[in-house]
Amino acid sequence: MPELPEVEVVRQGLARGVAGRRIAAVEVGHPRAVRRHLAGGADLAGRLVGRTVLAASRRGKFLWLPLDGDDEALLAHLGMSGQLLVVPADKPDETHLRVRLRFADQHRGGRELRFVDQRTFGGLALEPLVPDDGDGHVPAAVAHIARDPLDPRFDDAGFAAALRRRRTGVKRALLDQTLVSGVGNIYADESLWRARLHYARPTETLTRPEVARLLEAVRAVLVESLAAGGTSFDALYVSTEGVSGLFERELAVYGRAGEPCPRCGTPIRRDAFTNRSSYSCPRCQPRPRRGRW
Ligand SMILES: [Zn+2]
Repeated sequence: MPELPEVEVVRQGLARGVAGRRIAAVEVGHPRAVRRHLAGGADLAGRLVGRTVLAASRRGKFLWLPLDGDDEALLAHLGMSGQLLVVPADKPDETHLRVRLRFADQHRGGRELRFVDQRTFGGLALEPLVPDDGDGHVPAAVAHIARDPLDPRFDDAGFAAALRRRRTGVKRALLDQTLVSGVGNIYADESLWRARLHYARPTETLTRPEVARLLEAVRAVLVESLAAGGTSFDALYVSTEGVSGLFERELAVYGRAGEPCPRCGTPIRRDAFTNRSSYSCPRCQPRPRRGRW
């Protein structure tokens, strides 16, 4: 599942590749890819043709293309395996090509946008835009999603207060998209390791300096991953040019059970966590006496 850095890499590719271009044609190859657009694929195509993509926007793991008229956006759900590729129109179709957008300027050799999705958990939908908590707009489906820690309007003090009120484990809180968005399983484990916090640490026991250390760690991990093009732990994640990320080489704990902690050499431990795993160093991140999971 792509997390914030991967989605941001895709957003940057869309900003370069499709912003400012007018949509000329839309082909929907699989109805599941547009199932969130309740009026169906023909309606989606009819409402997209002739409109100009103004930008590429993101909140947390949500990605959308605001359209001219300023009232609607094309919202992309990448799901487990969704890819948004900006490729030359003469490139052969991918096996799992679900939706194709052609643009009015393509006769000049421009590229087309393809939504490719092997497992079809993802999809595209046209969504109305609603005012957000600042001076911008977000798709209605995204309005409940919190800002991410790289967002200039992220409220550190508000986050610290809300975190301590949650009465849950700190990792579970990091994964709660209504509290902070964009941090998934991989980056939660990496951030907690850097901040030397155990994933089951009860949020109400976190001190202000610990929360500050955690936010600093989250931001550092996200920024470093972004610089490496994201993590392709899930091999299906790629940029709009089809390139995989390289950050998994730099992961300290995630996926490294039994390998030495880069800080103290103790073997990394893997625990079951909900239906996934948590990776931590038993020495750097001691288990709290009364943990919350
Ligand atoms: Zn360690």
